[in-house]
Amino acid sequence: MIEKRQFYINGAWVNPAAPRDHNVIDPSTEEVCAVISLGDQADTDAAVAAAKAAWPAWAATPAEDRIALIEKLLEVYMSRSEEMAQAISTEMGAPIDLARTAQVGAGMAHMKNFINAAKGFDFNKPLSEKFNDTRIIYEPVGVAALITPWNWPMNQITLKVVAALVAGCTMVLKPSEESPLDALLFAEMVDAAGIPAGVFNLVNGDGTGVGTQLTAHKDVDMVSFTGSTRAGTAISKSAADTVKKVHLELGGKGANVIFADADDKAVSRGVMHMMNNSGQSCNAPSRMLVERAIYDQAVEQAAATVAKVQVGNAHDEGRHIGPVVNEVQFNKIQGLIEKGISEGARLVTGGPGRPDGFNRGFYVRPTIFADVTPDMTIYREEIFGPVLCISPFDSEEEAVEMANDTVYGLTNYVQTQDGAKANRMARVLRSGMVEMNGQPRGPGAPFGGIKQSGNGREGGVFGIEDFLDIKAVSGWS
Ligand code: NAD
Repeated sequence: MIEKRQFYINGAWVNPAAPRDHNVIDPSTEEVCAVISLGDQADTDAAVAAAKAAWPAWAATPAEDRIALIEKLLEVYMSRSEEMAQAISTEMGAPIDLARTAQVGAGMAHMKNFINAAKGFDFNKPLSEKFNDTRIIYEPVGVAALITPWNWPMNQITLKVVAALVAGCTMVLKPSEESPLDALLFAEMVDAAGIPAGVFNLVNGDGTGVGTQLTAHKDVDMVSFTGSTRAGTAISKSAADTVKKVHLELGGKGANVIFADADDKAVSRGVMHMMNNSGQSCNAPSRMLVERAIYDQAVEQAAATVAKVQVGNAHDEGRHIGPVVNEVQFNKIQGLIEKGISEGARLVTGGPGRPDGFNRGFYVRPTIFADVTPDMTIYREEIFGPVLCISPFDSEEEAVEMANDTVYGLTNYVQTQDGAKANRMARVLRSGMVEMNGQPRGPGAPFGGIKQSGNGREGGVFGIEDFLDIKAVSGWS
């Protein structure tokens, strides 16, 4: 069992001011896989003070020198990717193959995109050709608190840390208490890359402790948060007294609108996307809306696709799905499945309880509900598990209305071979992202939502801009 109670503050590994043990549970086995310590106010203060002291020099470091250090960080990250994959798989249950490819790979891709974006970024540019003496100067916001979730841990950490580094911010990272091990490894990599002391600091803790201390701290200038809408709301309130910049990446309840003229892989693609990472993705296409003409056929196809999804231990190689992260999530998902049944949705496959052959571990049966109506709880609430809801629609207008009938606005999906219809849909769907016909976003495209899915944009040049203030200077010579 791993014991890692220290925090990374001011370029050194330090003991917590008042150690408070926290067990990290392996969701595949329900066994304790690590013990960390949760920080308290003294640890938070020390980390913020280090970040504040390091800020002037880091902000003044030429962008090309900062980029060179990030290139070094990428090199170290690549050399330790297997350790990282093992940590992610153990602490949050992503199958090891997924952890190696998508989970660790996402971090790598983000770093490369940030390096490219940073190289072309102009931190000081004229307002226009005509008004050349009015300059737009981009300056780092200052000390950033970075608070991340457990579901795609290295994806979230690199999106925040590397953007902040490029921008010239210093930072305190508080990773999820469910997935601290990969964050601790990342801190070792920052250290090995030679990022100056105090620029990056890490304190473990929970939301009510270190999380709240950071968001309320008078010396923190900005909070960049990814997690639930519930925590995002609390953070906005906590940060309000000190008028911090608050960047929120929150929950989602994506609609996947499948028209009758969609390609023949559209349904299976949507199902597999939903099941990926055991359904624990904020951008999961969790509501499949299908045009009535192909509805029955789509439900059958979805069931046939799910029948091929294997559930297994995250440590085993192979293309199965793993458990969900913890007991709380497991129970929440079970409750929502029960609710789907009691509210009258048609259970097509899966259902309550663990899959056959499992009596330990937080494994959930891949589940499909059909005939789900917008008034049902499973249509409205983010389930965050391998549960797909399918509903029919009769017209393009109804599809739009149903897709937008949610408090969330992160990602929506459209499947049709009619280009004009796809483009029309892309404009009227209320979300930060629309993915059409399974086409992935290009590298460095912005990731983020609207409505209760949040307000920031991460990735590439958009992510860097979030950590910058804009200063207008007139009379520049
Ligand atoms: P969570 O909100 O419970 O926790 C996220 C982080 O916030 C953790 O580090 C936690 O300790 C901290 N936290 C919790 N309450 C806090 C508070 N009051 N003040 C400060 N910090 C606090 O979320 P989770 O269960 O870890 O992650 C799942 C959620 O994250 C889902 O809702 C998912 O949709 C969302 N998510 C969103 C995105 C996105 O980009 N929009 C990406 C991944 C996950």
